[in-house]
Amino acid sequence: MAERGKCLIENEVNGLQTDVLIIGGGVAGLTLALKLVKRRVNVTIVEKDPTLGRTYKGELIQPKTISIFKKMGLLETLNQDWRPLQEIRAKEVVDDRILVDATMSYRVLEQGEDYAAMMPHNLLKKRLLDEAQTFPTFTLLRPAVFEKMESAHKAIVRMDKERAVIKSQFVIGAEGVASKLRSYMNVDFKRKFYNHDFLTVSFPSPESLTKGEMIGTPKRFLGLFPLPEGRVRSVYLIKKGEFKEWRKGSIQKFYSHYTSLMPELEGFVHQVPSWREIQLMVPVRLNVRRYVDRNMALLGDAAHSVHPMAGEGMNMAIQDADVLGELIADLFEAGREEKVDELKQYEHVRKKRVRFLTALSHVSALMYGIGGEKWQRARALAILRLVQREVLQGKYMYNVSGLGMWGPSLLDGLQVIGLGKGQLRRQTMKQKTFSRLDDYPWQK
Ligand SMILES: Cc1cc2nc3c(=O)[nH]c(=O)nc-3n(C[C@H](O)[C@H](O)[C@H](O)COP(=O)(O)OP(=O)(O)OC[C@H]3O[C@@H](n4cnc5c(N)ncnc54)[C@H](O)[C@@H]3O)c2cc1C
Repeated sequence: MAERGKCLIENEVNGLQTDVLIIGGGVAGLTLALKLVKRRVNVTIVEKDPTLGRTYKGELIQPKTISIFKKMGLLETLNQDWRPLQEIRAKEVVDDRILVDATMSYRVLEQGEDYAAMMPHNLLKKRLLDEAQTFPTFTLLRPAVFEKMESAHKAIVRMDKERAVIKSQFVIGAEGVASKLRSYMNVDFKRKFYNHDFLTVSFPSPESLTKGEMIGTPKRFLGLFPLPEGRVRSVYLIKKGEFKEWRKGSIQKFYSHYTSLMPELEGFVHQVPSWREIQLMVPVRLNVRRYVDRNMALLGDAAHSVHPMAGEGMNMAIQDADVLGELIADLFEAGREEKVDELKQYEHVRKKRVRFLTALSHVSALMYGIGGEKWQRARALAILRLVQREVLQGKYMYNVSGLGMWGPSLLDGLQVIGLGKGQLRRQTMKQKTFSRLDDYPWQK
């Protein structure tokens, strides 16, 4: 029920007092907890799932997230668990014709962590949890369901059939898209669904697959990303609702969709034994109007959800946790934990970055989500320009990396239509890269 760091028996949970109560032990909640306990803040996580979860929930770790883990002293462990990813090849095919075959690289960043990494989601959670549990100020209540707030500092949590009150200075909603704390905070949000879904599954990889691969056709998209231990993660775009029909037929249909786009997958994708292994991913874009209310804050998917095309959701969740964790730990260290108004600094730093990345993911979603040959030709041209013009590739990789924000310019537009040849100004990239004071402005 309650796990080490601090070990509690059930009847000690009622009336438990903690500095920070985190609802949800996903990547956001666990990263936040680890940041805080490392600085001796008392943390309790309430997690309803008795396990670390079994579903796929993203595996691509972007450079900014890698730099956060590095600062948290986790790089040595994670280096052994993940597979670095430097290049992504984008191919557009129509019938047997290749319209474009181009490779983008994180190396264009030429600074800090100029690579991404692939790591199973649940293994990342395990590493964060294992580390947090070495600290005596960490408590995990699991399985335990957060039900509601009795007041801003008192949460009602159900374990088995018992209800307990937990008192806390700060309460953080890290419970994913269906956040109950968000409702209590009475926070509005905007939500958008898309006209397509994705299927995702991992299977043993052919040795020839060493880069990320994205293959587009007028109607389809297949993404392949090498994982550790000789496996590959695949994502396949389908029309909304199509999966239900597909599942009624033989799985051979699924295999042939893959092998028609990449014949090397013959014999590999066939190791997916049944439809049951294949997960449906329904993309949603969600942004809340505010992240903070008094002593409460929303984190990760509870505050924003993003189309998965640019691989940002998990990264934004971890990057939120980095900023919020630093802020709360600083407040406790300075004895200013009563100044709950200061939580707004977290929203101030994160909200504009999140909006920027959700917009970028939305554009990537439109690029692949709209079907037809004309649209595909336009997409092929955009991909071609992206690799031909260093400045376009540099800006794109820089923005998805999370290292900074570098918005589009008129000159970029001209380059996409083939006019002008701008150089990538590395100096500008460095200047725009988020510094410690950009991430934690209150430390001035
Ligand atoms: C299929 C899929 C594929 C994805 N692919 C990618 C990708 O490639 N790259 C990427 O960066 N992101 C990806 N994402 C997004 C990414 O998974 C999320 O953005 C990220 O997991 C958000 O983390 P979180 O901790 O905020 O929320 P979650 O991971 O949703 O964690 C919330 C936790 O809260 C718990 N919880 C919920 N309600 C309660 C309650 N009432 N009481 C107690 N506990 C509760 C849940 O059990 C869960 O453990 C994907 C998501 C999905 C679903």
